[in-house]
Amino acid sequence: MHRWLRILLVGTTVVVVWANAARAASVVCIDPGHPSETSSGDALQNGLREVEVNWQVAICLAEDLRQAGMEVVMTKSAAREYVTNRRRAEIANAAGAALMIRLHCDTGAGTGITFYFPDRQGVKEGVKGPSQSVISRSREAAERIRSAVAAQGLALRDNGVKPDTATAVGSKQGALTGSIFAKVPVVTVEMGFLTNLRDARYLASETGQSQVSAALAAGIVRFLGPPTHADGGAGPNRNPARSRVLEDVGARGDGTARQPPGRDAAQGPQQPGNEGASSRAVAVGLVVFLLSFAAMVWAWRRASASSGRRR
Ligand SMILES: [Zn+2]
Repeated sequence: MHRWLRILLVGTTVVVVWANAARAASVVCIDPGHPSETSSGDALQNGLREVEVNWQVAICLAEDLRQAGMEVVMTKSAAREYVTNRRRAEIANAAGAALMIRLHCDTGAGTGITFYFPDRQGVKEGVKGPSQSVISRSREAAERIRSAVAAQGLALRDNGVKPDTATAVGSKQGALTGSIFAKVPVVTVEMGFLTNLRDARYLASETGQSQVSAALAAGIVRFLGPPTHADGGAGPNRNPARSRVLEDVGARGDGTARQPPGRDAAQGPQQPGNEGASSRAVAVGLVVFLLSFAAMVWAWRRASASSGRRR
């Protein structure tokens, strides 16, 4: 094979492998809680059903993360699709997610947003997990996301980070089922108490859902680092599907007109750390330029060689 052709092929392979490695680093699995073997999430509380709130915030979050340059995998394709908690973790594992974020709402006498992570191994269906490395990465994820969310000033009390064992299921199993089967870092967010009227109103409103989603996205970007897509980054335009979802919710919400303060936090070139993505784009451009130059030289040498033979 001609030397230049060989260089061209090797160069192209390097670019393709590089681009794929960059993609794999930024997959986030969003798990909108319920219906599962634990509960349908369909109970009416202060006019809200948990399964619907989880789904609506999940759709907002998927869009915010995509706009921030992340790849998103969902554990469900419809609000009321039944998926077991084990299966949810398996979807995140199969996607090779860098993080699995599980969206839920609390019930009981409390108020505010709480972040849970597995702090030890649990056992479910004869399986012990998660691994020690997943435990330590999950703790790191929960702490980073929680501190970024706290900085956004949501209208929700910050209950901080707690271990899975502080939950009803986790106290029996050692960890939540979705954590036990997770082979990727996993954080469960209880976004607020639907039994608390103030939390419920906030989570029903367009403003509340938008703010919670933006704050979580900012935290996830903080944990995972800047998006590695060369084509990542934000635009000011919102997805029309998102607007439709928000209109649906707004019809039932309290309509408070506060502007989401965190709207831009997860996006845009002003985000510190986006230099990584842009320098990668520059490097890819440089490689493409060098390959084009190599191809030109090769073509020129071939042409001059054949014209030399003709003479
Ligand atoms: Zn739940």
